[in-house]
Amino acid sequence: MDCGLIFPRMELPKGLALLRTGLTGLIFFFFVTLSVFARAAEVTGVRVGENAGKTRFVLDITGAVSYSVFTLPDPYRVVIDLPEMGWRADEQGAGKGRGLIERYRFGLFEPGTSRVVLDLSGPADVQKVFLLEPQGPYGYRLVLDLNAAGRQSFLASARKPIARSDTTPEIAIQPSPGDRARTGPYVIVLDPGHGGVDPGTTSVIGVQEKKVVLDMALEIKKAIEKNPRYRVVLTRDRDIFLPLRRRIEVTRRAKADLFLSIHSDAIRNSRVRGATVYTLSENASDTEAAALAAKENKADLIAGIDLSQETAEVTSILIDLTQRESMNYSARFANYLVPLLANDWVVRTNSHRFAGFVVLKAPDVPSVLLELGYLSNKQDAQLLVSQDGKRRLSEALTLAIDRYFDALESER
Ligand SMILES: [Zn+2]
Repeated sequence: MDCGLIFPRMELPKGLALLRTGLTGLIFFFFVTLSVFARAAEVTGVRVGENAGKTRFVLDITGAVSYSVFTLPDPYRVVIDLPEMGWRADEQGAGKGRGLIERYRFGLFEPGTSRVVLDLSGPADVQKVFLLEPQGPYGYRLVLDLNAAGRQSFLASARKPIARSDTTPEIAIQPSPGDRARTGPYVIVLDPGHGGVDPGTTSVIGVQEKKVVLDMALEIKKAIEKNPRYRVVLTRDRDIFLPLRRRIEVTRRAKADLFLSIHSDAIRNSRVRGATVYTLSENASDTEAAALAAKENKADLIAGIDLSQETAEVTSILIDLTQRESMNYSARFANYLVPLLANDWVVRTNSHRFAGFVVLKAPDVPSVLLELGYLSNKQDAQLLVSQDGKRRLSEALTLAIDRYFDALESER
């Protein structure tokens, strides 16, 4: 345990130092949040503002995270504990504050816990702590409001939890696609794979997978939305990195009716070409599908996100059953898509395969991963970036989507 973040800049006699270390342990025992719902998120920005004696500290975060907040005296500090997460706000993970905050520091406190420490210019009260949901141009924001206080009141509340949230905001499980009452258009989430620091595969003609699939997704969105029956949400519309869990979160928050992840693989054999449709299964249909899922699931590792937290997942019978049902609907959609693709596109043999893709795990949203073709094959690569290719693929997809929802409606 690195105590530097808790008791910095202090020379203590050995006995006292040990006592402090013990105390630190106690503080942890009581106050550290069990982050069972934690997802790999990142801090992307820090803002400190001052208004009428109040100091506001804001962390921009890429996802809803659990947090706990407490204060420590001598020197006066506010501690914010978060699940282990990345830091993209600035290079040093530290910076100057304003008002009651002299400076802030960020670091890994222990495996599973990242910590932000605010060094205060004097005793202060943490008036409010809250997590804001994404709105407009902003993503999630963790906000702390501080007010100046006297030393006695600071000491009285020190080392006690001021605010904590044990879970990320819950997203209610949707009913089965078969009995969802529909108000408004069907929501289709398109998920262009990779992005940002994770380029995906590279094609023989030079262009990277992250760009191929983004361009394709933008084209598909246009085609689908020609019909007011559908609304399309993109998990990313720019060249940015997005953790796999965040893609699922976007999908669930949108209350999506269908999720479609778009990729284009590359392999050693440059003659292999054609599309493959994948749906979720714990048991992969073949070794190639298993290897591909392992490769696509590595996206988070590439960006340095620790996957160990993902194991502490909440499983309940309800989620399990819903997931099974969604898997059936996913397979149904794949069954509409494959023949349509075969008509006007190149498909591989065994063009519907199964494997454990993380990104397909929204429990209540039928989800399909489409490998459009092989960037290692020159014809596929050229087709995928061509206007003709984009048009043909968009047509096949919109038709499959129509047939899938037509069938659902006729069963109601
Ligand atoms: Zn990919």
